Amino acid sequence: MASNRGASTLDIILLGPPGAGKGTQAQRLQAKRGMIQLSTGDMLREAVAKGTPVGIKAKVVMEAGELVSDAIVSALIGERLDTAAAHGAIFDGFPRTEHQADALEILLGERGRKLDHVIELVVDEEALVERITGRFTCATCGAPYHDRFHVPQVAGTCDACGGHEFKRRPDDNEQTVRTRMAEYRAKTAPILPLYEAKGLVRRVDGMLTVEQVAAAIDAILDG
Ligand code: ADP
Ligand code: ADP
Ligand code: ZN
Repeated sequence: MASNRGASTLDIILLGPPGAGKGTQAQRLQAKRGMIQLSTGDMLREAVAKGTPVGIKAKVVMEAGELVSDAIVSALIGERLDTAAAHGAIFDGFPRTEHQADALEILLGERGRKLDHVIELVVDEEALVERITGRFTCATCGAPYHDRFHVPQVAGTCDACGGHEFKRRPDDNEQTVRTRMAEYRAKTAPILPLYEAKGLVRRVDGMLTVEQVAAAIDAILDG
């Protein structure tokens, strides 16, 4: 199939429970390697903020920490997939169910693409609650921070864009995090064996520092 994709263009999934570091690593890959982050969580939050029909449906589900329907998130990914064609996609927070994994395979296949790696960020569950409850992001550019683990270099100023406003997610509270983790265990973890059977899964220790995790991911992408 005709394609404007470079020989080294990769399509990868970052897989792991809430707080594993998917968004942090996806943003870095986007900034350093020009890959495109496709985060269904970000797309849904945008729809909620705009009050679109999808956003109105998704809002309550997200606030409860449950999963939004496969049809909605698969459609969102389908709409954006071509924007990442030339540079490679980082799927962040998608797929989260077996049905979504099947949908992704079809969407990529239709475009003559296939997954190159599924990178599993392996993390200790108790650490995740602390990561999630301390998480905040730049309101201007979305750069991710943490109260203890990743504060801006100059207090109150975003390292990435110089912005001064930050925000926290309404679903980043302990109760919702427990539900999100249960959803991960019940519906998302079971897709790992499917990717393992295809030889796609690469494990990274997500408990290392952000820089060490980034180096491990780079080694996989360059390997
Ligand atoms: P996810 O996208 O998987 O939900 P994030 O990338 O948003 O996770 O990370 C969750 C929180 O943990 C953020 O506040 C982030 O700054 C912090 N964080 C990310 N990676 C690490 C790491 N390796 N060590 C410590 N804190 C981290
Ligand atoms: P996390 O930090 O937990 O990885 P995300 O930003 O990826 O969070 O997702 C936030 C919420 O958005 C989820 O709890 C869920 O309600 C919804 N969501 C995001 N991606 C998906 C998806 N692929 N399938 C179903 N629901 C999703
Ligand atoms: Zn910023």
